[in-house]
Amino acid sequence: MKKILLLTTGGTIASVPGEDGLVPEAAPPALTRVIQEFSRHYEIQSRNILNLDSSNIQSEEWQLIARSVYESLPDYDGIVVTHGTDTMAYTASMLTFMLENLKKPVVLTGSQMPISLPLSDAPGNLAAAFAAVDAGLHGVSVAFNHKIILGCRAVKVRAMGIDAFASVNSPIRGEVMANGLAVYDNSPPPEGETALNSRLCNDVFLLKLIPGTNPRIFDALAQLPYRGVILEAFGAGGLHFIRRDLSEKIRALVEKGIAVVVCSQCLYDASDFSIYEVGRKILEAGAIPAGDMTTEAAVTKLMWALGQTGSLDTIREIFARNIAGEIHFS
Ligand code: ASP
Repeated sequence: MKKILLLTTGGTIASVPGEDGLVPEAAPPALTRVIQEFSRHYEIQSRNILNLDSSNIQSEEWQLIARSVYESLPDYDGIVVTHGTDTMAYTASMLTFMLENLKKPVVLTGSQMPISLPLSDAPGNLAAAFAAVDAGLHGVSVAFNHKIILGCRAVKVRAMGIDAFASVNSPIRGEVMANGLAVYDNSPPPEGETALNSRLCNDVFLLKLIPGTNPRIFDALAQLPYRGVILEAFGAGGLHFIRRDLSEKIRALVEKGIAVVVCSQCLYDASDFSIYEVGRKILEAGAIPAGDMTTEAAVTKLMWALGQTGSLDTIREIFARNIAGEIHFS
């Protein structure tokens, strides 16, 4: 029997109705009952480490979750983390960077409906998460709606639908079938020693462009203590320079030592800022392309990279390097 640690952090899966809407409980009886059922197949120990709606999960919580996972790794075959779905993709991406050379499975899951409700998707999602650990799918994954998604490729795409997560620009790692978990990702585990590296920088801003974004927003950003800016630009890679020239403002940010990373507002495919004039100008201004990364992965990678170094050259190098499947084309 595989020995699995369940770390619970809150989220809808553990929520009950309160006076101000759904609020997470540390140990809802329905979760305890479901875990008892799974204990016929796995040796499960569980620990509650946080009790938050994931909208409240921020860098301090990422560090706590990463440390809790890292310290428990030697004693278990793998770890399942229950987490609210709203920011699960950010946490999964950040754990990917913080837990270097992860050789064991760490699987995040949650549910769109509290586990106490008869229609809840929680038991199925937990089943998929435990199965992913059982199958030895190393690294950080998200298990949701019968699919196993690489953590740094997961994006929440539905607010209400049960199929809440997409695997963006990367095939799913596995899925639940009638004959068990079909595993499609047979990549070998990373070499090198597993390490916890949870230093990060919170001073990162994400800006989604609209047609006509006022360039003065960049002057305002330069006045604030930001060290990194992610720009969600248009399509394959572009931003406006007539009348309202954004590229000169980006150049000024870069000259000030602020890392500017550019990605696309399109969910799928790699952005390529070298195709159009409207994209090249931003590369010439010194922006770092995020290629086919999800916005969640780009944001967390920048926060993590700024925790390692202040050198823009090193950050550019970190961005171009595929650490754990988060970037294929830069
Ligand atoms: N608001 C909840 C959370 O992210 C939503 C969920 O878990 O599905 O914690």
